[in-house]
Amino acid sequence: MVPDYRDGTLSPADSKLLANRMSSLKHYDLIVIGFGGVGSATLYHAAKKGWTTLGIDQFGPAHNKGSSHGQTRIIRKAYFEHPNYVPLAEEAFERWDELNKRHRTRPETKPLFEQAGVLQIGRPESEVINGVLRSAKEHDLKLEQFTPEQIHHRLPILNVQPDHIGLFEPEAGFLRVEHCVAAHLAQAKKRGAELISDCTVVDWNASESGLEVRTENGTFRADRLAICAGAWSARFLPGINIELNVISKQQNWYQIDRIEQKYVNDFPVVFIEEDDGEQFYCIPELDSHGMKVCRHTGGDVVEDADGLDRKVDQDDLNRNEAFMDLRLHHSKHRLVHSSTCMYTMSADGHFIIDRHPQHANVAFATGLSGHGFKFTPVLGHRMVEMLDGQCDSQIDFLSLDRFRQV
Ligand SMILES: Cc1cc2nc3c(=O)[nH]c(=O)nc-3n(C[C@H](O)[C@H](O)[C@H](O)COP(=O)(O)OP(=O)(O)OC[C@H]3O[C@@H](n4cnc5c(N)ncnc54)[C@H](O)[C@@H]3O)c2cc1C
Repeated sequence: MVPDYRDGTLSPADSKLLANRMSSLKHYDLIVIGFGGVGSATLYHAAKKGWTTLGIDQFGPAHNKGSSHGQTRIIRKAYFEHPNYVPLAEEAFERWDELNKRHRTRPETKPLFEQAGVLQIGRPESEVINGVLRSAKEHDLKLEQFTPEQIHHRLPILNVQPDHIGLFEPEAGFLRVEHCVAAHLAQAKKRGAELISDCTVVDWNASESGLEVRTENGTFRADRLAICAGAWSARFLPGINIELNVISKQQNWYQIDRIEQKYVNDFPVVFIEEDDGEQFYCIPELDSHGMKVCRHTGGDVVEDADGLDRKVDQDDLNRNEAFMDLRLHHSKHRLVHSSTCMYTMSADGHFIIDRHPQHANVAFATGLSGHGFKFTPVLGHRMVEMLDGQCDSQIDFLSLDRFRQV
């Protein structure tokens, strides 16, 4: 359902041959382990800086086996998770816009971002509404507030509880996730970055003479290392005492029938917190694939990302569809597609981006906790800055320090 981004990249066999040949030859300024969401952005920013850069991934570009697939990702500034994210979200909007301008040189190329607006709904004291209001107040964000009647008037399909309110952020929307990863990689390649797909990194070590990254196809050397391995991160961070829990998440697309077409077309992104704390979101139909409706809460623990069970989780689907029966009335829905993805949860639900405590030339970004894609251009940029010896107090709240014992 998404374009194949393997065009112009090597087959697994050719990748292996190339990796074997390259491994002994070159010394890079930076090696990036994993080129999904964060890794692709890190490669772009490093290549833009003029660093010689190598990205290695166990799969291909914009693949569907990690955490950066499934057509769309929500992007918003009115951040219920914490007001500290708001300046980063503002920067992310600018960085996506910059990437989009470089990427979209022909009118037929699809934009990376769709400004559909985001409507967040819940009781005033819910985590979502309370958090959105706090961020909006601290950062002077302009939001429109709606009663259930006003929401019903604008979106008759939505059945909003009488004691809930809606907060609408018109500038927000969603990103085309695979296109974003592919655009970062294409722009990185244009600036000289080298990519090796279908090559599994086994481990890395740092010595006086620099860094070595050992893969199943050979060993690569560099001055610096960025670990962007998503749900697989823990295996590259031995000895760092952080808790990371991987959970499986299901993404579902539905054909919605029996509603007037205009309600589907005009639909913004909707994020609802129910009174029992369950959170669901709907992303409008894109490219005729149906409306995406998913449960943000819940999900099963994945012991090993290599062994992720990709079968449809019937219990999750039942809860999702019960939500649709309740909240999307005057409609009939039919599941057209599901896909399994992973959230890598940190202990407090906030990202972890930092330098390695023992090796200043190694940086990592992990624990994106199911809300990190929108920030990937910012995280990629900060990874490169950190590896260049710079500090940025804006991301201090995401550093390892918060887990250190006093
Ligand atoms: C269902 C779902 C919905 C989401 N919705 C949103 C949303 O609406 N908005 C939002 O902002 N965020 C959202 N997120 C979160 C966001 O998508 C993720 O946090 C983000 O994409 C993770 O990027 P990453 O680079 O950490 O991981 P990935 O993109 O998975 O990249 C990790 C890469 O490392 C590679 N790798 C791992 N191990 C090795 C190895 N040994 N050798 C070589 N390569 C390796 C993998 O193959 C992979 O390509 C959602 C996530 C999911 C799953």
